[in-house]
Amino acid sequence: MTEPFAAGIERLRQEALGTLESVGDTAALEAWRVHYLGKGGVVTEELKRIGGLAPAERPAAGQIVNDLKRALSEALDVARATLEAAAQEQASAREAVDVTLPGRGVDMGVAHPLSEAMAHIEAIFVGLGFAVTSGPEIEDEFHNFEALNIPAHHPARAMHDTFYLDHGRLLRTHTSTVQIRYMERHRPPFRIIAPGRVYRSDAPDPTHSPVFHQVEGLAVGPDLTMGHLKSVLKTFLQAFFDRRLALRLRPSYFPFTEPSAEVDISCLLCGGSGCRVCKNTGWIEVLGCGLVHPAVLARVGLDPEVVRGFAFGMGVERLVMLRDGIPDVRLFYENDLRFLKSIGPCA
Ligand SMILES: [Zn+2]
Repeated sequence: MTEPFAAGIERLRQEALGTLESVGDTAALEAWRVHYLGKGGVVTEELKRIGGLAPAERPAAGQIVNDLKRALSEALDVARATLEAAAQEQASAREAVDVTLPGRGVDMGVAHPLSEAMAHIEAIFVGLGFAVTSGPEIEDEFHNFEALNIPAHHPARAMHDTFYLDHGRLLRTHTSTVQIRYMERHRPPFRIIAPGRVYRSDAPDPTHSPVFHQVEGLAVGPDLTMGHLKSVLKTFLQAFFDRRLALRLRPSYFPFTEPSAEVDISCLLCGGSGCRVCKNTGWIEVLGCGLVHPAVLARVGLDPEVVRGFAFGMGVERLVMLRDGIPDVRLFYENDLRFLKSIGPCA
């Protein structure tokens, strides 16, 4: 009886090992284990069959079935280790870095349109021999008004909707304050520009903002004339707008200049023939200027009989709006990236 029993176990062993070779994943492996080595599995059934053999044959048969059990268990361990190694290899292949793929770009920031414009303006004036200076945004009434020939109760104060602070201080309403502060500490001749923030208590609308930016210009020397002023402004405006422009000085009034003028340029859109932007006049107002008022020179200790000066002031937002066709000044302050990235040299 032992011979046929042993032959049956051998067939079983070959069949089990053959099936194991085709197992491709852990679920199939577990099914194989349950089928052959599980509690009600094939090997257990074989052990039960030993009880039906003659008592003399049982020890040898038991040995054969135990050998089978050990062989299948060992084969199971090997198969499991092989599957795990293959899974690990697949995972590391998935996570591997492909060094031949193109890199991801870094999203670079861009300069704010106003920063870009002020840097551009500064570069143009530096090229014309102007030094760049600055002054405080919190000012006193003397530097913001009186020294600029705007005494208390002067009607021009009503034109400046001023934010007043404690102790006679205020937020400067224009960068002309820097003229006074510079002339208090420096002797002519000199040429300066002063870019910076200014404040007016205006309600925000498409053309007004309670905070905006100006660039003040001042030159003081022995023989300066309106001709020098016009030449400097024409050179600057043509450089800023990057084209040839006609310039027109219209008589105007500022307390701190005499004579005073508004500067118009030929319309950027129609070139002077008349359109909606220039209200069919062919001209666009861009800044104010004039010769420094003798009273302003005298107030900082300069002799108006000996030195003369010219001054000008421009709104940076207005210049950028004209240059780039921006319809609403509030866009500069809303930090909408779609707008900020559409303006300036990086657009
Ligand atoms: Zn026009």
